Amino acid sequence: MHDWHLECSLCGVRADADGGQTVCGACGKPWLVRYPERRHPVGEKQTPTGAGMWRFRSFLPLMPGEQPITLGEGDTPLLATPRLGAALGIERLWIKDEGTNPTGSFKSRGLAAAITRAVAAGVRTFTLPTAGNAGVAAAAYGARAGVRVRVYAPRTTPKPILTQISAFGADLHLLDGHIGDCGKASRAYSAESGAFDLSTLREPYRIEGKKTMGLELAEQFGWELPEVVLYPTGGGTGLIGMWKVFAELAAARWIGPRMPRMYTVQSAGCAPVVRAFETGAGECQPWENPWTVASGLRVPGPLGDRLMLAALRGSGGGAVAVTDDQLSQTADLCTRTEGIDCSPEGGAGLVAARLLRERGVILAGDRVVVFNTGAGWLYR
Ligand SMILES: *Cc1c(COP(=O)(O)O)cnc(C)c1O
Repeated sequence: MHDWHLECSLCGVRADADGGQTVCGACGKPWLVRYPERRHPVGEKQTPTGAGMWRFRSFLPLMPGEQPITLGEGDTPLLATPRLGAALGIERLWIKDEGTNPTGSFKSRGLAAAITRAVAAGVRTFTLPTAGNAGVAAAAYGARAGVRVRVYAPRTTPKPILTQISAFGADLHLLDGHIGDCGKASRAYSAESGAFDLSTLREPYRIEGKKTMGLELAEQFGWELPEVVLYPTGGGTGLIGMWKVFAELAAARWIGPRMPRMYTVQSAGCAPVVRAFETGAGECQPWENPWTVASGLRVPGPLGDRLMLAALRGSGGGAVAVTDDQLSQTADLCTRTEGIDCSPEGGAGLVAARLLRERGVILAGDRVVVFNTGAGWLYR
C-alpha cells in the first residue's frame, strides 16, 4: 500500500492517492504529494547508494519493493565551469547538466515518475501537450512501459525534437499555436477517449520526479545548498519541485535551514512569470503572442504560477528576462568554451547569471548553479 496522500496547493484539502488524479476538485489547482514523517527519521541522513534518481526512494512515490519504469534517468553531472565563469564574470559557477538524461532533457525525470504511478494505477493510454521535450520523454517512457502515448505539439517545435517523438513511437499531432492551444486539444481528446492527461501539474507526480534535481544538488554540494540557483522556467515543475524538496530535506534535517535564492529565467518573448514577479502580482496573466527559440520556455499561462511566485519570493530570489539573441549567443559560448552541449534554455540561465552579477544581485562569494535543462543537439 502507498503511504502518501495528496494535498491541494491552494485550499489545502486532502485526497487519497490512487494514481488517477488530475487537479483539486474543489478549486482546480495542482495537488502536492505529502509523505508521512516516519519516512525520514529526523537527522538520520543516509546518502542513498545505487544509480539514478530512484535511489532517493524515501523521498519518492514508490511502494515498498515496487520497481519504477526507468531508463536510468538522473544522477546528472554537476560541473564546475571556471573558464565560462571568467567569461561571464561569475567567480564560482557550476552547471548541472540535465542534457545527459535519457531523451536529452530533465523532462525524463518527471515523466518517469508520472508514467510509473499512472501505469501502476492501470492506465494504458496517455495524452499530453508539449512545448517539445516533454513529448520526447513521454514517448520514450510510454514505449518503455508498453503503453500508448498521443502528443500535441506546436508545428514550430524544433525538428530534431519532433523526430525523436515520432521515433519513440508516439502518435504525434502538430498544431498551429502554442502549448496552451495544444493543451486544449489534448484535454478534449482526453475527455472523449479516456486517455490520461499528463500535462504539467494536471497530475501530481511529475513534480516528484523533477524534485530529484534538488536532492542531487544537495548531495553534490555535500548537503549544504549553494547560494544561488538559476532555473530556465516554462511550466515551472522543476522550480516548484526543487523548492518543495528543499523544505522536505530541511524538515528531515538532512540540510540546515538556509535555502538558495531561486531565480526564474525566461525569454523576453514569453515572460509571464517575470512580469508577475516585477508587478508584485500573486499570479500570472497569459502572455500574448508568445515566441522564443528556447521552445521549453514558451509557456504563456503556467498553471503553477502561484507556487512559482511563492518560491521566488520565499527564497529571496527573483525573475529575469533575457533576449533570444543573448540566450543563443551564450549557449554557443558555453558549448565552445566548456564542451557542454548547451540548450537555448541553458543559455538563458547563463546570460541571466551574468546580468545579475553585473547588477550586484549575485555577489562575488556566491556559489551559482545554472541548470542546463536540455541538450543543445535537440535544437540544431
Ligand atoms: C520544459 C523545459 C524547460 C521548462 O521547464 P519547467 O520545469 O516546465 O519550467 C526548460 N528547458 C527545457 C530544455 C525544457 O525542455
